[in-house]
Amino acid sequence: MKERSRVTKSIVCLLVVAMGLGVSCAAKELIRYDVHDTTRDHPRVMAAPRQFGRPPADAIVLFDGTDLSEWVSEKKGGGPAAPASIKPAFGGPARWKVENGYMEVVKKTGDIRTKKAFGNCQLHIEWATPRKVSSKETAQKRGNSGVFFMGIYELQILDSYENEAYADGQAASIYGQYPPLVNVCRKPGRWQSYDVSFLRPIFDRDGRCIRPARITVFHNGVVVHNNVEIKGSTEHKKKAKYSPHADKLPLSLQDHNNPMRFRNIWVRELPEQPYLIKD
Ligand code: MG
Repeated sequence: MKERSRVTKSIVCLLVVAMGLGVSCAAKELIRYDVHDTTRDHPRVMAAPRQFGRPPADAIVLFDGTDLSEWVSEKKGGGPAAPASIKPAFGGPARWKVENGYMEVVKKTGDIRTKKAFGNCQLHIEWATPRKVSSKETAQKRGNSGVFFMGIYELQILDSYENEAYADGQAASIYGQYPPLVNVCRKPGRWQSYDVSFLRPIFDRDGRCIRPARITVFHNGVVVHNNVEIKGSTEHKKKAKYSPHADKLPLSLQDHNNPMRFRNIWVRELPEQPYLIKD
């Protein structure tokens, strides 16, 4: 009986590999296990972070308060040439300011993006909008930035504390698609956090999106998106659509001409979960 079960599992594994989806999945996950099956693998053991919000042992630290070595500028033509080690070469090293343990947007220097590329991931990022708010800074002009997953799908950053902006463009919105479930913005100048689980989209060989991206977001520890399906790109006043792209792409942060601050940024790459792929 055990032998037959092993053979069945091997056949399932082979079928999964033969599907050729280009998904780096653990084929074993598609096996239909019995309840409390003792042959099922246990998750690996990992030390918990020393404090909540600190990077876990397997995190890639993207900013620890000291330098922008994990980032490059997206602005083409600006700044010195990028070192050959940075591929693809954009506008050279990121030119945002680093001081007192945070990085700060220097307006007009352009968005910055990670050197490394990511697909499915968990992200932690802390941000603060400027403490002083002038009367000219209203709606989208007030403390605007954003985290772009894969450089395409924006989780909006905005000073939405007593600041009216269109709902699908306020802080913690999936820009142009979904307002957050609640507005938990702190006062201008206060540090805030996003904790995000992002599932990348999957495209078939003809470029059709066969699994849209999904996202879960905690803003200041509060759920504001619970596993929502991203409809596609998140451009200003443009209808969302999917265009095929690589399995992994850099994360980017937006320069929207406001001196936004960021600190404690880390990411964990997440494995594909094959049961989330429709047959
Ligand atoms: Mg933005």
